Amino acid sequence: PIDNIVGIVCERGGVTAHVAILAKALGIPAILGAKKITEKVNDNDDIILDCHSGLIYHHPTESVIQKFGEMIESTSNGDIKLPKGDTKTTDGKKVTLRGNIALISETAQLEQYGAEGIGLYRTEFLYMIRDYLPSEEDQYRIFSKILKEVGEKGATIRVLDAGADKPIPYINTTTEDNPALGNRGIRLLLKRQDILKPHLKAILRAGLHGKLKLLFPMVTNIGEVIQIKQIINEVENEMIAQNIEFSQDYKVGLMIEIPSIVFALDKLVNEVDYMSIGSNDLLQYTFAADRGNEQVSDIYKALDPIFLCVIEKIGSFFKNHPEKHLAICGEMAGNILCVPFLIGAGIFDLSMAPRMLPNVKDIVSKFSVEECEQLLKEALSLNSVDAVTYLVKEAFTSKGIKH
Ligand code: PEP
Ligand code: MG
Repeated sequence: PIDNIVGIVCERGGVTAHVAILAKALGIPAILGAKKITEKVNDNDDIILDCHSGLIYHHPTESVIQKFGEMIESTSNGDIKLPKGDTKTTDGKKVTLRGNIALISETAQLEQYGAEGIGLYRTEFLYMIRDYLPSEEDQYRIFSKILKEVGEKGATIRVLDAGADKPIPYINTTTEDNPALGNRGIRLLLKRQDILKPHLKAILRAGLHGKLKLLFPMVTNIGEVIQIKQIINEVENEMIAQNIEFSQDYKVGLMIEIPSIVFALDKLVNEVDYMSIGSNDLLQYTFAADRGNEQVSDIYKALDPIFLCVIEKIGSFFKNHPEKHLAICGEMAGNILCVPFLIGAGIFDLSMAPRMLPNVKDIVSKFSVEECEQLLKEALSLNSVDAVTYLVKEAFTSKGIKH
């Protein structure tokens, strides 16, 4: 009962863990990785969750409560309607800002926060809320509704990424020692065509109701992409044979979230229409640091110059392939401190939790592409997350941006 939940505190987990993503989707304040909190807090204790700083105030005093009350009032953007119109850098480069959603009810937020369509629809939740496989018809209804609601702006529907941090008990039935490195995402679906085929049929049929982009998660190599395309072909032929109508006008993309893809871009670029960086997993696999494990959260940092180097490598590749499209849909896209570096790497299509859009829009409109390129260049020469953070915060200060 969502109305009964005012906040979530977990001893374990990190900011990109799925419970965090779901909490964000539902607008529930959440702090994860609060070690030993259950030893310290008792039933009926007053606590304040400051999710901005990640601090928990236990037994807050009257004046602290009052301070937070004032802050909530002054920053409340519940009624925010962003000015329509394009988001541009100071030198006029258009940056497309889209929304990530996991629940159909979130489409309302897209309009509210000014998203230009959906850059990532996580289909896992459609499976998670049931304890059986959703039928092709159930899926078709939901995908159609989403595509109709976003209209011309379009929706990127990612095929099911079951496993690891998003286990679906009735699908991920075997125990694995390392589920994050195991049978998940597209690896699993290629072995479970009984799940993949109806899923694809539902998406392609729904594609008739809007502008569809298909997205494949956890792709490791070109062989998988060839197999996926073969299966799409088979599914289409089956629907033609049964006189079932489906979209013939959609784009196919893959997520860059396993480092092997970064080294196979030249082989893969001609196989798809676009790629989208899944920075949550790309970070996890680059640093071999579990995205949901607070014990290694000091290593799991998007502002690490090593990670920015990975991002820069991907961006440079696409600069040489302007006919193909590059986007990012990991949480990094909604982190204002990362935004100038993404622009500097030539990534102009950012998708994030809708609530993040106003702040990101503001940052984009305060920098030129050249300034961002310069900032990225400087960041790449640095040696620590702290140094990069200082660099970008200085740039914000010099532009009067609060951080
Ligand atoms: C990612 O890995 O960055 C991503 C967007 O996918 P998810 O968080 O659902 O794994
Ligand atoms: Mg991922």
